[in-house]
Amino acid sequence: MTAERRPLIAGNWKMNGLRAAKSELRAVAAGLAGISAETMICPPFTLIGAFASDVAGTELMIGGQDCHPAESGAHTGDISAEMLRDAGAVAVILGHSERRIDHQEGDAIIKAKVKAAWRAGLLPVVCVGETLVERDAGEACAVVTRQVRQSVPEGATAANLVIAYEPIWAIGTGRTPTTDDVAEVHGAIRHILTERFGAEANGIRILYGGSVKPDNAAALLAVSDVDGALVGGASLKAADFLAIARAA
Ligand code: PGA
Repeated sequence: MTAERRPLIAGNWKMNGLRAAKSELRAVAAGLAGISAETMICPPFTLIGAFASDVAGTELMIGGQDCHPAESGAHTGDISAEMLRDAGAVAVILGHSERRIDHQEGDAIIKAKVKAAWRAGLLPVVCVGETLVERDAGEACAVVTRQVRQSVPEGATAANLVIAYEPIWAIGTGRTPTTDDVAEVHGAIRHILTERFGAEANGIRILYGGSVKPDNAAALLAVSDVDGALVGGASLKAADFLAIARAA
């Protein structure tokens, strides 16, 4: 972590949360005193409007988990970046491996979604990460480098892009890479960002995601070029999410 990159701790609730989950959100917002990291919760679409109103005036940000590339139109069941923004979101997770797998999303569509996020004034959090087969074949850095090259459009800056490195085999499994492995991949991501965006890359935050918990957060967040965390399961409990944010 460097002084110019303020850590970001983002919670990805995935397809979890009914309206009653507002109490967890309120507990997060009420527990932020003394936490220097930026914090964000990305609930399912159905909760974004209510959550955004609820945290208005607090430091806690609300984000979406996906958006359609188009602004509006005949796309049944989809949500545009403009709609997220209108509902009160300030950011959007894009290219999560569960979207890449469940919805066959490739780098080209993710790139179009990043442009949509920029068009709507949202901060995209672009997820990259290798499968276990790719890791075992020694291809982790090559895979994430290719994903960053192909899914991030021209024009990225420190202010308009966050990358999240999430090894697919570490998501929801309780397994994490070694800190050396995390450092190596984050270094590779910084390298391709620098190659593409020059000095601007120094300010782009690279989050680690995949089984981040209160008991491993400090070690992962201390790794060089780790500028925060994208937290799934542990973000559903306010106490765990706050403990992770405190470690940043
Ligand atoms: P996890 O999920 O923390 O439950 O492993 C992380 C993610 O998928 O963003």
